[in-house]
Amino acid sequence: MKTETSLQWKLVRYLLTFVLALLALLWIFQVVFLDSFYQRYKIEGIEKIANTVAMSLDSENISDIILQQARQNDACIRVLNGFTEIKTINYMGCQINQLSTDELLNYYQKAENNNGSYLEIVNEAAISTFPYNVNLIRRDGSKDLIYTRVVDTGAGNKATILVNTHITPVNATTETLKTQLVYISMIVIAASVGLALLMSRKIVKPIVKINESARRMAEGDYDIVFTGSGYQEITQLNDTMNHTTKKLKEVDQMRRDLIANVSHDLRTPLTMISGYGEMMRDLPGENTPENVQVIIDEAHRLSALVNDLLDLSRLQENKIELKLEVFDLTALITTVLHRYTKFTEQDGFEIRFVQDQNVYVRADSQRLAQVLYNFINNAINYSTDDRRIEIRQIVRKGQVRIEVEDHGEGISEDKLDYIWERYYKVDKQHRRSSAGSGIGLSIVKEILQLHQAKFGVHSQLSQGSVFWFELPTVSKPDNL
Ligand code: ADP
Repeated sequence: MKTETSLQWKLVRYLLTFVLALLALLWIFQVVFLDSFYQRYKIEGIEKIANTVAMSLDSENISDIILQQARQNDACIRVLNGFTEIKTINYMGCQINQLSTDELLNYYQKAENNNGSYLEIVNEAAISTFPYNVNLIRRDGSKDLIYTRVVDTGAGNKATILVNTHITPVNATTETLKTQLVYISMIVIAASVGLALLMSRKIVKPIVKINESARRMAEGDYDIVFTGSGYQEITQLNDTMNHTTKKLKEVDQMRRDLIANVSHDLRTPLTMISGYGEMMRDLPGENTPENVQVIIDEAHRLSALVNDLLDLSRLQENKIELKLEVFDLTALITTVLHRYTKFTEQDGFEIRFVQDQNVYVRADSQRLAQVLYNFINNAINYSTDDRRIEIRQIVRKGQVRIEVEDHGEGISEDKLDYIWERYYKVDKQHRRSSAGSGIGLSIVKEILQLHQAKFGVHSQLSQGSVFWFELPTVSKPDNL
């Protein structure tokens, strides 16, 4: 089994890698490349001095400028311009002030051959070979930079600018830096481990808490409240988990309701069937067609209920495919309404169908009939004294809208969202509860969603309800 690294160690690892990379960079630049950076900086400096001097050759106060440059940069400068020569010295002494005429000429030639400028880095060993400046030999490993620049001053005259600076060895500095870096590295590594542990503890603590609550929820404790704060993501996770618990609690309640409803719904017809059956067996006189009809009717109710349950589970698993065809929706509604003549005649219901034309739709006619039956059955079941039910067909902008209106008990606003859910019944003690098990509208919802139809309900408590759906109309096919 693969063992997962805990967040704590992951954080330590990431932070350590980051810190080590930073330290390595620091080390490379401060220790390894310091020498070459310093040399580069010095070379740029010496070129700059020569440039400044070259630009001021025509100036009246050239001597001041040269002196100022020499002082500012701790350099020696020597300018040979025709017969004039300006020379600066500094307290460390300079190579260029000790040069023989031959050596001067040599530098001049090298600069001339090298596009007007020539740089020489003279190290300790080389310096010691200079015959005239034995007193200047430095044994500390420092180097001299000698930069020669030849400038055209017009009329065939040329000026030679010689600049001389020192490069002091960086070894001592590097050693100091190394020691400092060792301390810095130790402190930073220890601090980063500490910080990672502290951070991870802050991050992990609420997660552990949520995990514990989730485990209790998994064991069926839906009253658990997820608490824990500290940062936004955790608060959001808590909200989500609390919402999930609420939903799970509702589903659990609905499942219990369904079992109660379904067993009640199954028991009523079963009691009737067995009761009538036994009566007909024991009392030959009761063996009448009416009693047999009661048994048949109850058996039909049973199979209708079982079919509903099967339908819903298949619809929700997307196992049902629509048999789409173009048909006359108006005619379908008229046929469905025929089945309700018994209600109109016996129970005093007044069912009206309002329409002004026959419309065609492309849909599954059997499934749409199921939707209509559900709406109309509910309208009948939840009607009170006012037994008027109106079915309206409204055609507008290529859409047909079917509305089923009753003047019954209505549904309160806060319950409206729930009625489309499985097993939901507004009033669990409804006097006609045996008529439904709370799954009719969830079947309707699945069917209409499969048709990508819009649907909904408007309702007011004790005023009545209007259930509706909309489908696009199609033109009448030639073969109909
Ligand atoms: P049932 O089989 O219980 O009628 P439905 O899924 O068809 O289940 O409806 C769910 C719930 O919605 C019903 O239990 C009822 O409370 C409410 N309901 C549905 N239609 C109406 C209506 N026309 N008037 C009032 N309440 C309704």
